[in-house]
Amino acid sequence: MKEEDFKKLVRDIPDFPKKGIVFKDIAPLFASAKAIKALTAQVASHFKNKSIDVVVGVEARGFLLGPLLADAIDASFVMVRKPCKLPGAVVSQSYALEYGEDTVEIQQEAFPMGSRVLLHDDVLATGGTAIAASQLIEKLGGTLVGAHFIIELAFLNGRTRFMDCPIHATMKY
Ligand code: AMP
Repeated sequence: MKEEDFKKLVRDIPDFPKKGIVFKDIAPLFASAKAIKALTAQVASHFKNKSIDVVVGVEARGFLLGPLLADAIDASFVMVRKPCKLPGAVVSQSYALEYGEDTVEIQQEAFPMGSRVLLHDDVLATGGTAIAASQLIEKLGGTLVGAHFIIELAFLNGRTRFMDCPIHATMKY
């Protein structure tokens, strides 16, 4: 499927969750079996020859495509979650928001040191969340091989914060 065809399945919701934000609703995309099959296959073919061991998905919407993608490239799936959701020993990373800060966590034993990791989330906006997740991957001794986002809000320049890591986005706005 072409980018324009995927874009027909994303709804813009103005002023959600707060005034001034145009929320990209991917529910219609996931409601289409044909689109999800095509999306999974296309992203998988992009990363197939990169010897990826683990797909790391970010809570919550990174948990939708993440496991499908992991299955398609014969990798395992690991969750990055909001604070206090993961049991056992965890590693945390805080990052700045427009007002205040937020934290993401990963389980300490999530993957073996030296694993080749693909980071995945639904939307790359300012990049704060993705950078924090990539720092968690680094803290666990993983190698960040690439990152995939269903949607990139290119006007927010989140991509420029990833120095060496190749970023792939299915749809760009
Ligand atoms: P950021 O840390 O600014 O890159 O924001 C990325 C996170 O916020 C992702 O996990 C997205 O799910 C969510 N997000 C940010 N902007 C939007 C948007 N316009 N529509 C939907 N989700 C968004």
